[in-house]
Amino acid sequence: MVSTSPTDEGVDDRPVILLVSEENTDYLLDEFGRYARDYDLRTAHSGAESGQVVKSLPPGQQLALVVTESVLPDMEVLETFHRLRKYVPTCRRVVAAHWSRFREDAERLRPGLAKGKYDAYLLMPRGQRDEEFHTAICELLSDWNQTVAAPVVETIRVVSPTSDGLTLAVRDFLDRIGMPHLVHHPDSEVGREILAKLNGPGGDPTYPVVEQWNGDPYSVTSVRDVAISIYGRPDQIDVDRVADLVIVGAGPAGLAASVYAASEGLGTVSIEAEAIGGQAGTSSMIRNYLGFPRGISGMRLAQRARNQAIRFGTRFFTGWPATGLEVGRDGAPHVVRTEGGDVRARAVVIASGVSYRRLGVEAIDGMVGSGVNYGAAMTAAREMEGADVFVVGGGNSAGQAAIHLSRFARSVTILVRRPDLSATMSSYLIGEIAFNPRISIEGCRRVIDGGGEGRLEWIEVEDTTNGQRTRREAGGLFLLLGAIAHCDWVPHEVARDPNGFVLTGRDVPSTAWRDGLPPENLETTVPGIFAVGDIRAGSMKRVASASGEGASVVPLIHAWLEPVPTPV
Ligand SMILES: Cc1cc2nc3c(=O)[nH]c(=O)nc-3n(C[C@H](O)[C@H](O)[C@H](O)COP(=O)(O)OP(=O)(O)OC[C@H]3O[C@@H](n4cnc5c(N)ncnc54)[C@H](O)[C@@H]3O)c2cc1C
Repeated sequence: MVSTSPTDEGVDDRPVILLVSEENTDYLLDEFGRYARDYDLRTAHSGAESGQVVKSLPPGQQLALVVTESVLPDMEVLETFHRLRKYVPTCRRVVAAHWSRFREDAERLRPGLAKGKYDAYLLMPRGQRDEEFHTAICELLSDWNQTVAAPVVETIRVVSPTSDGLTLAVRDFLDRIGMPHLVHHPDSEVGREILAKLNGPGGDPTYPVVEQWNGDPYSVTSVRDVAISIYGRPDQIDVDRVADLVIVGAGPAGLAASVYAASEGLGTVSIEAEAIGGQAGTSSMIRNYLGFPRGISGMRLAQRARNQAIRFGTRFFTGWPATGLEVGRDGAPHVVRTEGGDVRARAVVIASGVSYRRLGVEAIDGMVGSGVNYGAAMTAAREMEGADVFVVGGGNSAGQAAIHLSRFARSVTILVRRPDLSATMSSYLIGEIAFNPRISIEGCRRVIDGGGEGRLEWIEVEDTTNGQRTRREAGGLFLLLGAIAHCDWVPHEVARDPNGFVLTGRDVPSTAWRDGLPPENLETTVPGIFAVGDIRAGSMKRVASASGEGASVVPLIHAWLEPVPTPV
């Protein structure tokens, strides 16, 4: 076992990169030399030895990455990852296949990659400046650093004596917008330094106190205070200014619209109720978005899109829900209302998305992305091969998810609060489920708890008829409790379906067509007001489709703003 760490002088706080190979540890150590300043490079020659290395790490030293050859002398590589995962569920795992075995080992190991058993299947680095290999390694380390490690660089410093609700909400907001921060106790050296700048000595501030890299510290009374200090208030826009376009909602759909509209010269304002990124921003890993073969965390995707939109000139205001939309008549601009001021624009894109009803069980909501999934089951289903999984919900989406999951899982159990599915699911789905030997239905059930080592392993289910509780092994939990459209701010002139989703194009009832024609594809019943992404009735509810619609709406906005003159 080799270590490059200077641990003799004290505790090494560099995270560990563990390189596992029977014969090529020296080669790998040399190739990973460029990381030696920031990471403690360790080696092992077998699966068993890799376990010993991990168990011997001093408390507090983290394992960031394991890189193993595709063949180990004592056990299968996937077994090695499985064992290591028990000790360190969060480390990133890479297979670096030897060039001579790349193809044959790929056949054996790639299915495990699709199921999320490890993070990347790479070819061993080919000597100096194999930047392709190191790009993959850097991406994985960056992802690990952003989601697991305490930040080394502090962009924002927070002072608070407790983890009260407001401090947690501020931290959550900063996490979601990708601002590295640490919380300091008021009595710590950093805490005292910041408080002295706030009040002078002896002051008695309200907590939390936030200090931004480019400003003075301030006491925070709501998350919005932090949002304002970063992005400003909508009423900072000149009252006489009319933007070309205001986009409400900065999830993938709104962000794509911002990038394409601003890059094509439209004066674009984006209003976001919470943090940029929407639902996608809360996903720990999006694996099916085009162009990211190793997946990308929703937060990083959102950050990149936001930076791209800002670069083209989009003005963002976050922490401001649109509270209303006044339709402009006879050429007057539309007005989007927020508590921080109104924004006037010639065109509006509604991109306010949906949220999934939450289970409300803290232990389970804390494991979203680690065996617990809200909404679509398509991607995660492959990871469920051979597992016993549970679907909660009695609607058609729950039925479809159960059928899809049964192609992979050993068993699928649908848990519903009602005695059966007859009142909530279409009969064709009920019939299909009845003929599927892998799916069973349990009525009068609710999930009350769950847990596992870094990933969901069990749930506790209550029989609501007698209060009896049972603990069940669970490889996955899919919560399809219904999507709620974010549309309370949308005026009645914009037609919606009975569930509140905005109707566009040919889905608009013919009674609302103009001159016998339906609105354009992504246009609503009000000229100049468009809808994209999950809020749109009939949308696909995926990141790619939402961002595709965000891009596709821009030519329609151009056409609306500059109508082609009718030939005389
Ligand atoms: C945990 C999770 C994991 C997922 N994983 C995947 C995946 O792996 N692959 C995939 O393809 N899809 C995935 N999805 C689905 C995907 O994230 C959504 O389909 C996509 O985010 C929809 O984008 P959107 O922009 O239409 O809406 P949203 O992402 O819902 O964004 C809407 C935004 O509008 C804001 N908003 C709402 N009301 C207002 C208002 N009044 N004023 C201002 N702003 C407002 C919201 O705060 C939000 O930021 C996942 C969803 C979740 C919840």
